[in-house]
Amino acid sequence: SIVVTGATGQLGRLVIDELLERVPADRVAAVVRDADKAADLAARGVELRTADYNSPETLKAAFHPGDTVLLISSNDLHGRVAQHTAVIDAAKEAGVARLVYTGILGGPEADFLLASAHRETEQLILASGLPYTFLRNGWYTENYTARLDTVLEHGAVVGSAREGRVASAARRDYAAAAAVVLAGDGHENTAYELSGDSAWTLAEYAAEVAKHSGKEVVYNDLPTEDFRALLTGTGMPADFAEIFADVDDAISRGRLAIATGDLARLIGRPTTPLTVTLTEALKV
Ligand code: NDP
Repeated sequence: SIVVTGATGQLGRLVIDELLERVPADRVAAVVRDADKAADLAARGVELRTADYNSPETLKAAFHPGDTVLLISSNDLHGRVAQHTAVIDAAKEAGVARLVYTGILGGPEADFLLASAHRETEQLILASGLPYTFLRNGWYTENYTARLDTVLEHGAVVGSAREGRVASAARRDYAAAAAVVLAGDGHENTAYELSGDSAWTLAEYAAEVAKHSGKEVVYNDLPTEDFRALLTGTGMPADFAEIFADVDDAISRGRLAIATGDLARLIGRPTTPLTVTLTEALKV
């Protein structure tokens, strides 16, 4: 089977959607920690396997010999290396055919805080000896459009990314690439650097929001320290604020601007432009 972890998450659901366009439902299994959240997937003919990254015992039954497994990186920023280790160990023990992992753009070169767990996970997968595919995902455009309410309320995009560019793509683009790599051959022991076809600055993003909303929106660039303080001021815990301010520092250094064309090549079409994701988000 093709097995997708994190299948009830935002990316995971889209991966399942994209898989069902390519392979019969009886070849697809979803690893979920809460089967109630996955009733719609079961209704579409997808096999459910219940397991929790924090519980190695439950992971034993999640993978079968010969499976092709997608490990969607956990959203637990502190616990995820241990969680991923448990998944890799269980996959190895089961004798899966290939482990596909959603890492971060740049892989070993991604030198920012948020990337360290991805670098460690890639190393663990390499050390496991399992055949692998690394999907090194760049930024989702939705990371920005999900916060449109705040931007429109303040008439400002605030950050500390300076003139740095973000080669973002829509979540669905990354999901389609995952489905292609899971359902197809020729991706073994390969790393893809996935990102959008065009890269924009936060000032350009603010201008796009202004254009499509009809409201005045500017980009307010702050020194990294001030941006971090602003995030904690909104109630974000200090450790998270540090990680997110550090992301903008990475953007200022071009770390999320890498554009190889891998994503468009894999999905066989251009990536979704910023304007499309933005105008869809403005409608809701
Ligand atoms: P979501 O937060 O929507 O999904 C995370 C998934 O991980 C959920 O399905 C969640 O399960 C699952 N999960 C978390 N903890 C456990 C656990 N203990 N056991 C089993 N499953 C668990 O994130 P997205 O789908 O948007 O993104 C996928 C991943 O990509 C994120 O987890 C993060 O690592 C990374 N990411 C990448 C971004 C980018 O721009 N490239 C931006 C944001 C995140 P459940 O459905 O039960 O909650």
